[in-house]
Amino acid sequence: MSHTIDIEKIRADFPILSRKVNGHPLVYLDNAATSQTPKVVIDAIVEYYESYNANIHRGVHSLSQEATDAYEEARETLRAHFNAAKKEEIIFTSGTTHGINLVASGFASVLTAKDEVIVSALEHHSNIVPWQMLCEKTGATLKVIPMTESGELDLEAYEELLSENTKLVFVNHVSNALGTVNNIEKIITKAHQKGAAVLIDGAQAAPHIKADVQALDVDFYVVSGHKMCGPTGVGVLYGKEDWLNKLPPYQGGGEMIDQVTFEKTTYAGLPHKFEAGTPNICGGIAFGKAIDYLNEIGFDHIAAYEHELLTYATEQLLALGDLKIYGTSSEKTAVISFNFEGIHPYDIGTIIDKLGIAVRTGHHCAQPIMDFYKIPGTVRASFSFYNTKEEIDAFVQAVKRAKIMLS
Ligand SMILES: *Cc1c(COP(=O)(O)O)cnc(C)c1O
Repeated sequence: MSHTIDIEKIRADFPILSRKVNGHPLVYLDNAATSQTPKVVIDAIVEYYESYNANIHRGVHSLSQEATDAYEEARETLRAHFNAAKKEEIIFTSGTTHGINLVASGFASVLTAKDEVIVSALEHHSNIVPWQMLCEKTGATLKVIPMTESGELDLEAYEELLSENTKLVFVNHVSNALGTVNNIEKIITKAHQKGAAVLIDGAQAAPHIKADVQALDVDFYVVSGHKMCGPTGVGVLYGKEDWLNKLPPYQGGGEMIDQVTFEKTTYAGLPHKFEAGTPNICGGIAFGKAIDYLNEIGFDHIAAYEHELLTYATEQLLALGDLKIYGTSSEKTAVISFNFEGIHPYDIGTIIDKLGIAVRTGHHCAQPIMDFYKIPGTVRASFSFYNTKEEIDAFVQAVKRAKIMLS
């Protein structure tokens, strides 16, 4: 599909994009780590602190009412965006890591030692470690869906791993290290056929693909605000109402209770049961504005434009020669992970930073993927709808220079 991205207009929305780094115009290609923030979101943050900063859900005073209304409006924006059936199924978190830990902690009261849970070889550490901790606690067994050389999941092997003992499957929608878009529709359907629940780590997908949680029939879907033009420190966990009712609270404190006595405390209903303490009120409100901003541009246009950038950058980089790209699935978001033979990724990253170009180097919180390829890490360039072909040219020229210096 074609896009109607008006790149000049979009870039003007992002104040940071006009700054210089080390004397060069910033070329920001680390979008998979965190995205930049448009003026509408920054304005929402300033407006909150300048005009209605107050604690929510408690005060009778006007500021508290205004803040509560704005926060709950943001929850509704997120509900509509992910097409959740109910607002109560949208839990504000501090981010994807928090969302996954919340669910993993809840499953400690669901799993027994004979149960099995399934992860994939393509995961971010935050979708591995909480489950390992859960397995240690419950005695449940962790199984791993293997990956292939192209950076895709082996779904035939997955079907063989599934059994009547499988209680939960957790995979990412898109791999942050390679950009692979996983076939989560199939993963969810096959898990449900065995009666297992599915958690999808949507952190890397959400900036590019609009997930419909009801159409997917997914049990849990987690995202971070800061990867989709929102602020850091806020995210969302979508959970099916039945599951959220079944799982125990994650943290105890204010806001999550119904009645407290020293004999017995009863918990608040959803979503408050999982939102103990004063939340990131401003962050939640700003996250809602970021979602509105992305939807105004349109996810179809974002995906089509980013695909153009991916194709262009892939061609330009390959033309440099001697370069290996990790993650070559035909279903990819705009992420290129690569290395040159005999050159450490960190050295490339350091040299091109001097030319104003921001990329990520290292294992990208996905050491098992690096182990699979037997490499210490990669250089990762990740593109967003506010990047341009001219920026890709500057990036490729910089990489070329670095390569000559290091060879
Ligand atoms: C970024 C990321 C996470 C972690 O998100 P936080 O915002 O750091 O909690 C988890 N999984 C994937 C796939 C990611 O890209």
